[in-house]
Order: sequence, then structure tokens, then C-alpha cells
Amino acid sequence: MICDNLQHIHDRIRKAALAAGRDPESIRLVAVSKHIDPETISTAISCGQLLFGENYLQEAQKKIALLDKKVSWHFIGGLQSNKAKVVVELFDMVETVDRFKTARALNNHAERINKQLDILVQINIGKEPQKSGILPENTVEFIKELNSLQALRVQGLMAIPPYSPDPETTRPHFARLRELGTLCSKADLFHSERCELSMGMSGDFETAIEEGATIVRVGTAIFGPRYHTETEHP
Ligand SMILES: *Cc1c(COP(=O)(O)O)cnc(C)c1O
Repeated sequence: MICDNLQHIHDRIRKAALAAGRDPESIRLVAVSKHIDPETISTAISCGQLLFGENYLQEAQKKIALLDKKVSWHFIGGLQSNKAKVVVELFDMVETVDRFKTARALNNHAERINKQLDILVQINIGKEPQKSGILPENTVEFIKELNSLQALRVQGLMAIPPYSPDPETTRPHFARLRELGTLCSKADLFHSERCELSMGMSGDFETAIEEGATIVRVGTAIFGPRYHTETEHP
């Protein structure tokens, strides 16, 4: 089941990329495994999925310890600076950086263990008052500040647009994130030439790919519904 789901999603990613004139290899699938048990994640690993996203640190810590060391993990949850040490040790990328204080804590721990940590800046693309993320207009200034932190490598932007069941409603938000990414690339703010854009989830990842996503974060469409929705990160 999981393997079929993964295969189907890879097919859909490839189709959406080709239709948009993009190289399907330029898009990475993060399998969002929050609230999914280690056995089920193991199944996904055995059918070739080697990149996962987790939202909750304690939960992730337990699972990562049990699972294959060749797996890469992206942190996609709410960040607290007092947890920076564990995050730096466990994750290959932190997608949700939106405060300098937290970034500085990540940087300090990364320096201590001689690690270069890849990060994305989370943008509150829909300017929703209750949501995390940097406001679009403050992005350039924020990344300039981050670039003073030697152990962090800012690779691009991430967003969770306002929820809508209709991907066409979400499309303009994806387009705005891409435009913001282009602006930052032109200002030479990213660590690499390529600007990573992490956007698109189960309900809208094809639209996100059409608008330039390089990382899509898909949970439900791979693992089925989760049963702990009350504690979910907004
Ligand atoms: C849960 C979650 C996802 C995956 O959502 P699905 O709709 O299950 O695909 C993606 N990104 C973030 C930040 C999440 O918290």
C-alpha cells in the first residue's frame, strides 16, 4: 500500500514537472511522517523513500534512533531555541526558521559539532496573524541577518499557505513564494545558486510544482489519515 502510494506520487510529480517544462529530478519528495509509527516508516524506507519530515521533536527523536541511518530528516515543525541542540544533531535540514534567536541557537550548536546546517526560511505567505513565518516584505532583511551566522546555509524558502480545498486558490501564494525566491536569488542571498522552494502538500503538490516547488511535503497521500490532528502544527 505505502509503496504503491509512493510510486503513484512519484508518477504525479513527474507528470506535473514535465507538463511545466521542468526536470522531474529537480523536485524532492519529503514524506511527512508525523504521528506515523516506525514500522510504517520502515516500510516506506524499504521501498526507496529516504527523505522524511517530522514536526515534533520528542516523537522524531525516538523514531530516528530506531530507523536506518541512511535516511535524511527535515524538521518542519515549530522551533524553540532551547531545543536547538537536538535539532542540529538529528536533522539534515530545518525548514522552519523564522526567528533570529532560534537561528543563532542552531548556529551555536552547529559550530560546536562542526556541522554546516542547511536551513529554509519559513515565510508567512498569506500574512495570517496566527501563523508562523517571516512576512514577505521582511524576508530580504531577515536573510541578510541570517547570513552572518557562519554554520547555517540558507538554501531557500518554505511556506504553508492558507488552507483551501481548491489548489487554484492556493496557486497565487505559491507564485508569490517563487517571486520572493527569485528576488532573494538576484540579491545573492542564498548559499547556493539554486533557490529551494518547499511548498505543496497532499492536496496541492502538483500546483506547487507548476509554480516552481523544488521540495514537496506529502503526508496523507502516502500514509493515509493521521489520528492525532488536535496537536498538529498549524
Ligand atoms: C503535516 C504537514 C504536511 C503534510 O500534510 P499532508 O496534507 O498530510 O500532506 C506538510 N507540511 C507541514 C509543515 C506539515 O505540518
